[in-house]
Amino acid sequence: MSLQTFRMYIDGAWCDAESGQTYDSLDPADGKPWAAFPDAGEADVDRAVTAADTAFHSSEWRSLTATARGKLLRKLGDLIAENTESLARLESKDNGKLIRETRGQVSYLPEFFYYTAGLADKIEGETLPLDKPDMMAYTIREPLGVVAAIIPWNSPLYLTAIKLAPALAAGNTIVLKPSEHASATLIELVRLAEQAGIPKGVINIVTGLGAGAGAALTRHPLVRKIAFTGGAETARHVVRSSADNFARLSLELGGKSPQIIFPDADLDSALNGVVAGIFAASGQSCVAGSRILVHASVYAEFVDRLVARATQIKIGHPGEDSSEMGPMATEQQLAVVERFVEKAKAAGAKLRLGGKRPASMHGQGWYYEPTIFECESIADELMQEEVFGPVAALIPFTDEDQALAMANDSQYGLAAGIWTRDIARAHRLARSVHSGIIWVNTYRAVSAMASIGGFKNSGYGRESGIDSVLEYTERKTVWINLSSEPMADPFVMR
Ligand code: NAD
Repeated sequence: MSLQTFRMYIDGAWCDAESGQTYDSLDPADGKPWAAFPDAGEADVDRAVTAADTAFHSSEWRSLTATARGKLLRKLGDLIAENTESLARLESKDNGKLIRETRGQVSYLPEFFYYTAGLADKIEGETLPLDKPDMMAYTIREPLGVVAAIIPWNSPLYLTAIKLAPALAAGNTIVLKPSEHASATLIELVRLAEQAGIPKGVINIVTGLGAGAGAALTRHPLVRKIAFTGGAETARHVVRSSADNFARLSLELGGKSPQIIFPDADLDSALNGVVAGIFAASGQSCVAGSRILVHASVYAEFVDRLVARATQIKIGHPGEDSSEMGPMATEQQLAVVERFVEKAKAAGAKLRLGGKRPASMHGQGWYYEPTIFECESIADELMQEEVFGPVAALIPFTDEDQALAMANDSQYGLAAGIWTRDIARAHRLARSVHSGIIWVNTYRAVSAMASIGGFKNSGYGRESGIDSVLEYTERKTVWINLSSEPMADPFVMR
């Protein structure tokens, strides 16, 4: 079967890599190649960044009012809404996520563009209450220039929307670099941006490998901001690259998020929250609730119920509406999951469910069963390391202090779930758990109005929410001398 071919978009034109080289994308549901993408090299990246820089300084882009930029983003939101089903199907094909999940994500996607469009003309400066009566000073928020957006494979459209919308709302231009494992939907997004009338050079996309196109993009001297989502090791490369161009950084990295279940919680609801946290998206979610801390008085019952519930999960082709768990996105990720599981077994963790590929999907791609372990210690590898797969690790706790200590015993701090009906306890823990998102009696809730981002090794910077546009601006201070006196002694600071 011939492969579907995709092209990059640089300076308003669809193109191949200068080298003519391509890479294949494999369908996680059968492991076979289905599409080919240009493998951009240094020269392609340079063309894309130069085009973005030229567009940034062009009168066409600079003379657009903030309100007009907002209108363009709204138009793009409308076009996404009109193409929800095709985008959702394409993303499901590309990264193996359930169509239920991608449809849900893409249906909400326009809201990020509408909300951020409304912020475009509300980027305001301040008048400063100076301690110098003869002077006044005010600030202006200006765009930074070329933004490099580096995207992982697990939720390409969503993770791009929360970078692209604020970057453009603030008046920047952008070069997108999708993951080599899931590049297709970002190309379609750029096609819609072209239809929306976004001027040429303002949005560019280079497809390619991380060590090639990704590294060339992050170290390019004209890049002024890198918005990165991905793993911690890759982030370290990106941070080192930014030592060359001093680009600002936002880093959305991994997590090992705790779900803390108290005995007074609605346990039916907590059970669903735990299933959503670790088995939705086959656990390939940065906010996966992968370590589950349960009060000792309900621990045994909760584990049994979780095992019974997870046994019912329907593993199937991601494109079928009835499927509840699809494949891992890549063969490498499946191997990573298998390695973690084997090590946990060897270390003595108690395997309660799964721990293998499902026989029902034999020979059909990169599926893995929902897997449940009971751990002895919070120091166990499964309690500390991000697996990025459908592997839940449970441990009992005896009181709130111990639960808090366990929750914070982590290099990560992205999200946490707290399950209790005790309102004071919920607020106490919300204050003291070290993570960027706290969900009380819910999990995996997302809104354009709410920021996401991590503490500790989960990264820095915030995306989404009212401040997201400010992350793409630089503050400038303007001083005005109000005095009619001539400027005095030039050798004294004023
Ligand atoms: P990854 O770090 O392997 O790749 C992310 C992106 O970086 C890809 O586009 C890749 O091509 C690029 N890249 C690789 N090497 C590079 C280099 N040297 N220089 C520049 N770019 C380079 O991540 P992944 O495997 O695609 O995604 C999974 C990871 O992403 C997990 O750790 C997950 O927790 C994290 N993630 C975080 C969030 C969040 O919002 N915090 C969301 C989704 C995923």
